[in-house]
Amino acid sequence: MKAQQNIAFIDLRAQQARIRNKIDAAIARVLDHGQYILGPEVAGLERRLAEFCCARHAITCASGTDALLLVLMAKGIGVGDAVFLPSFTFVSTAEVVALLGATPVFLDVEPDTYLMRITQLEDAIADAAKRHLRPRAVIPVDLFGQPIDYAAVEAIAQRHGLFVLADAAQSFGASRNGHRVGVLAPVTATSFFPAKPLGCYGDGGAVVTEDEELAHLIESLRVHGKGTDKYDTVRIGINGRMDTLQAAILIEKLAIFADELERREHIGRRYSEALADVVQVPRVEEGVTCAWAQYTIQVDDRAGFVARLKAADVPTVVYYQTPLHKQTAYARFPVAPGGAPNSEALAARVISLPMHPYLEEATQHHVIEVIRQAARN
Ligand SMILES: *Cc1c(COP(=O)(O)O)cnc(C)c1O
Repeated sequence: MKAQQNIAFIDLRAQQARIRNKIDAAIARVLDHGQYILGPEVAGLERRLAEFCCARHAITCASGTDALLLVLMAKGIGVGDAVFLPSFTFVSTAEVVALLGATPVFLDVEPDTYLMRITQLEDAIADAAKRHLRPRAVIPVDLFGQPIDYAAVEAIAQRHGLFVLADAAQSFGASRNGHRVGVLAPVTATSFFPAKPLGCYGDGGAVVTEDEELAHLIESLRVHGKGTDKYDTVRIGINGRMDTLQAAILIEKLAIFADELERREHIGRRYSEALADVVQVPRVEEGVTCAWAQYTIQVDDRAGFVARLKAADVPTVVYYQTPLHKQTAYARFPVAPGGAPNSEALAARVISLPMHPYLEEATQHHVIEVIRQAARN
């Protein structure tokens, strides 16, 4: 078996070839019935998503960013509130906090799992109170697909009256101790951006929760804060609905998602076994199955390493080049006591490898060989 030509970092075409006729038929059904906004596929997808997570409610929305925003709006987050989150994440996690006038407080991450440093949270809460902010919420991020230890986060959050919102944009489908993402935290936001483990063909997102009152609030907020009558506006909301077409596509993709997650697990394990002695591989905690949105290693001389991989036609991407507390728009917000030295070091060391369910075995061996050679140089 020969390695694929033109290795894809994330291959959406192989997946499409597998279910193209089903997707074409699903799109055709929407064009036939013509209910482009909140058509029957939207409720159908929400039922299936809730079932997939064994959760009571799944509410779809226009993006992962809107999913985070809708939850914070429902909880009344605003000026004077402190919301704790890791600095080493995608900008959306902090953006929604700042948009509502609240203050994002940046925590560091662990250097081996890339997950928020839970041990820094209590000091961060005390420090925020000293700055005359009201500690209100914590948004842990399941970075690269690994769900954080929500029980540990929840224990601290409860002591201080914070609510926990899971940013599971990268971890949908993952699990911890046999429970899927969606029921690990009281409320979970996820994204269906095309490159996420479960992606649509545009923007999309969802909120998953057991909390019925919160679910109803979010349903209202995503349609301009509507009351029982569509033209009776009872609160200030947004236009945050998922398109019927995206829901129709996601129903077909969700049908093969469990199989894709198994393939991802398999590939992640093979990478770790084959690379652990030459580069720093990610640590997956006990009892966790990872969704592997990214397979991210650490190297000392990243520029040289990237160049050697590029020369061998192995595509790589750096997530993330700059931690949020160092970015122009976010540098004015507080960092927890102790700072975020791991986030700063990781930004210079991380590199993500090709990862998707259709990465052929021969291609993976090729990637592994190239990395082992690059690491020896
Ligand atoms: C992708 C992502 C988001 C935002 O999702 P969109 O659907 O692109 O709005 C939020 N948080 C994290 C960690 C992400 O990776």
